[in-house]
Amino acid sequence: MRAYPETGNMPEARFPHLHQEVEAEQSDDPPSLAVPAAEPELPEPFPDYFLKKRLPVSSPRTLEFRRRHFAGVSARDWNDWHWQMRNRIRTLDRLEWMLELTQAERAALGQHGELLPMAITPYYMSLLDPQDPLQPLRRTMIPVHQEFLRTPGEADDPLGEDEHSPAPGLVHRYPDRVLFLVHDHCAAYCRYCTRSRVVGQGELQPNKARLEEGLAYIRRTPQIRDVLLSGGDPLTLSDEKLDWLLGELRAIPHVQFVRIGTMVPVVMPQRITPKLVQTLRKHHPLWLSIHFTHPDECTPEVVRACRRLADGGLPLGSQMVLLKGVNDSVPVMRDLLHRQLMMRVRPYYLYQCDPISGSAHFRTTVQEGLDLIRGLRGHTTGYAVPTYVIDAPGGGGKIPLQPEAVLGRDGDDLLLRSYAGTVHRYPDPQRAGGAARLEEVGR
Ligand code: SF4
Repeated sequence: MRAYPETGNMPEARFPHLHQEVEAEQSDDPPSLAVPAAEPELPEPFPDYFLKKRLPVSSPRTLEFRRRHFAGVSARDWNDWHWQMRNRIRTLDRLEWMLELTQAERAALGQHGELLPMAITPYYMSLLDPQDPLQPLRRTMIPVHQEFLRTPGEADDPLGEDEHSPAPGLVHRYPDRVLFLVHDHCAAYCRYCTRSRVVGQGELQPNKARLEEGLAYIRRTPQIRDVLLSGGDPLTLSDEKLDWLLGELRAIPHVQFVRIGTMVPVVMPQRITPKLVQTLRKHHPLWLSIHFTHPDECTPEVVRACRRLADGGLPLGSQMVLLKGVNDSVPVMRDLLHRQLMMRVRPYYLYQCDPISGSAHFRTTVQEGLDLIRGLRGHTTGYAVPTYVIDAPGGGGKIPLQPEAVLGRDGDDLLLRSYAGTVHRYPDPQRAGGAARLEEVGR
């Protein structure tokens, strides 16, 4: 039998900094910096299908919705992504049939057409609460009158993407990578979309001539090694178009890999067919960033879609937008992140909501975002913690934000705050002092 690694008699001489940590906690540091560790929390209960090989077809909520609103539709049609696209809910009448709308929602829908379009797949609609206007998923899909209010600092193109566009739909902001907006259609339209100025307008068509313009720019720009396909949602293109576009990109010698940003696995998981996965896997290395918002999205259908993609060898990451009243609490966000890991999706970015026009009701303060990260970092698996970023207005790129961990120096020691709020010392002599000590030891 192998001996269990001994930890009880750890020699202090080998690990002096651990000894120092204890001393620092006991005496040296200002008491105000020492925050008592929180009580350990029990993990949130998961739906059991996350761990089962055989998944249920749907959640009870979706089955009930289908019975109520699409009783005559066969399972075959419901599970066909073309049917889901054709039958998206786009009008006030159809919404009224499925939801109890508030006056504010009805009024906003009356103005629909001036700003962001509205469309929701029947599948995603099944996850919305018909009675509760404050249900997180419903808030992200149904317009409210605040969408029409502009507050200081907001803009239609806060990231300045249009200023860095050498070809229609191509954004070249970082030297070695480009964002390629393949078209402007999405399966469903999020009310906080950064590209609300573009999506659903029909101006960015996935026609060959326009895509060729983008490809030609990438071909003649050898410093581009990474292409991110986004939109609109690239996975609403047909398999054939995706195959062609990915093939053209893979044939460019300096393009090392391609990424796809998509919300389709979440709002229309029926699109993730075995044929699509076969098509995508022809073009490895190909990475997928999936847009998630809330734990309620992690249904059997989405688990199945992510399993298919992961089994097809596609590395999966996630991106989320921090949204007030939707996912801005530690328990909700932690639950979402844990569910992603269970689906083999690595949490990647958490975005501070961009100051697009009409987004004030969705935006938290940055301090609230930092507090959220502080509530995650160290309190859960490191893989579960996304990088919290602000996409700098005006085109400065993504700027990562971290709660303050370096508190300052005390002589040769760096003072660091741990996840539990305790203060620790790390021996970090300044260059000159460190060199002198090394000489002394060598003598
Ligand atoms: S899926 Fe993405 S591009 Fe489409 S509306 Fe939502 S955030 Fe915007």
